[in-house]
Amino acid sequence: MMEKEFYCELTLQSMQGKLLSDELCMQILNSSSGTELLPLLDAAYQVRKKYFGNEVQLHMINNAQNGYCPEDCNYCSQANSSNADIEKYTLKSDKEIIDEAERAYESGAFRYCMVFAGRGPSKKRVEHLAQLVRHIKALFPIQVCISAGLMDKEDAQVLKHAGLDRLNHNINTSETNYPNICTTHTYADRINTLQAAEQVGIELCSGIIVGMGEKTEDLIELAKTFRELGVSSIPINYLIPFEGNVLSQTPELNPEYCLRILALYRLVNPDADIRVAAGRELHLRSMEVMALYPANSLFIDGYLNSKGGNRERVIRMIEDAGFVVKTDKDVKDLLPSEGNRQLPVIDNHENVIKDINDLRPRL
Ligand code: SF4
Repeated sequence: MMEKEFYCELTLQSMQGKLLSDELCMQILNSSSGTELLPLLDAAYQVRKKYFGNEVQLHMINNAQNGYCPEDCNYCSQANSSNADIEKYTLKSDKEIIDEAERAYESGAFRYCMVFAGRGPSKKRVEHLAQLVRHIKALFPIQVCISAGLMDKEDAQVLKHAGLDRLNHNINTSETNYPNICTTHTYADRINTLQAAEQVGIELCSGIIVGMGEKTEDLIELAKTFRELGVSSIPINYLIPFEGNVLSQTPELNPEYCLRILALYRLVNPDADIRVAAGRELHLRSMEVMALYPANSLFIDGYLNSKGGNRERVIRMIEDAGFVVKTDKDVKDLLPSEGNRQLPVIDNHENVIKDINDLRPRL
């Protein structure tokens, strides 16, 4: 068992901008090291509180184009290598995408994330995305993020001019493990895209998926890579298995380990948004609320192709724990009204695939 000073030292080093040693990181992730969960979460919480207070940002994702991707990412139900039974469709109309931005804003989302499956956009598609960003930014006071695959600096510049706030491009796993999860593009391709966006001044969002055969060392290396790259937003996903995917088995993750990872990422990246992302319900189970101590944001209304926790329950969970939703709206207005409860919800912590009504609520 560690002395109280150990946890204070973690907080202090993080707040002073010091990079935690690999040895300390290992002690954080390894429960047999004597590092206890509650004081560890408190150490991470002190850092979270300094930068974000008790606010929780709600993010809402729009799967703007689903499936038909030529890439072979083993974890992805939209991949060429997957036979998962998802609802596939080509690009939504501009009207539908903009209507969904309105829905995100009305739902209290702080950020609207548009995701386009595929290896990367053509120059023509980049111009189209830029138009969408301009429209949405002109209509709603909401932060806009795009995830559209591999991109070069010229593409990033076009999106920056249009007012894009953030570009998402997850690294997902370590350089060593990368060939085990994807063969059609490389770890370096992904890093190059992030660097292109960074060079033109777009904020970076990049995260991981835990449970894809990575080692503890890989998770530590990735936490430090995000810091080096200056990533502002780090979604921590836990693998959601889809029948038909190459990675179709539920990984053996326990809630305590999942929480330790969040604490590590907060302490190594003190002022970054740490988002407890896909797989939150499945892998944290009854410990879900504890994620709010290191993490300052989460998704509502599910993920790309998986349903997520009931929005009402999520907002209640946030408030019950003494956290507050970051929104300019009355939180009561974010809850579904009686008779209008057709939100994508799960309460059984299993992976439930979204149907067309979940994916295209404004069709
Ligand atoms: S590039 Fe993106 S959409 Fe395509 S398979 Fe990989 S993760 Fe899925």
